[in-house]
Amino acid sequence: MRSEERTFVAVKPDGVQRELVGEIIKRFETKGYKITALKMLQVSDEQARAHYAEHEGRPFYNRLIKYIQSGPIVAMVVEGYNAVAGVRHLMGSTDPDKAEVGTIRADFAQVMEYNVVHGSDSVESAEREIKIYFDESEIYDKRKCMSELVTEYLDA
Ligand code: UDP
Ligand code: MG
Repeated sequence: MRSEERTFVAVKPDGVQRELVGEIIKRFETKGYKITALKMLQVSDEQARAHYAEHEGRPFYNRLIKYIQSGPIVAMVVEGYNAVAGVRHLMGSTDPDKAEVGTIRADFAQVMEYNVVHGSDSVESAEREIKIYFDESEIYDKRKCMSELVTEYLDA
């Protein structure tokens, strides 16, 4: 069943360093998803370990923790129908070599370790990950502001 969902997305440090932030955000916006929170931040050790807790003990874990803290990330909350799976569809497989051409990872990354973007893998992961990076007060869903202003202006 399709439902309105929110998901946690991040342009990882390699994507920020390579100035792909706009390109990546554009794909989510042109798909029709809403960005309801957005910020650039330096990931702390605590945030990195909380985010990737499920991977602790895996051979790539230490490298992953170092990677995600190697420079600022751009963190987002993205909303829309089926947004969790939909964002992962746009991102492509973890390994850019296996990702379909046209997806973010196929188009912008070369190796699995440094794959430019993160997206939550379930609604539950999304809620957990959003809490690591955002306070609920930083998430906005007010899209009528401009039309209200225009109406007010035209009616004046
Ligand atoms: N990763 C890695 N080597 C691996 C698997 C994963 O370096 O063999 C890194 C990669 O950056 C990936 C992240 O760890 O995006 C999280 O892995 P996960 O399996 O959750 O992939 P994702 O959900 O990001 O597609
Ligand atoms: Mg994952």
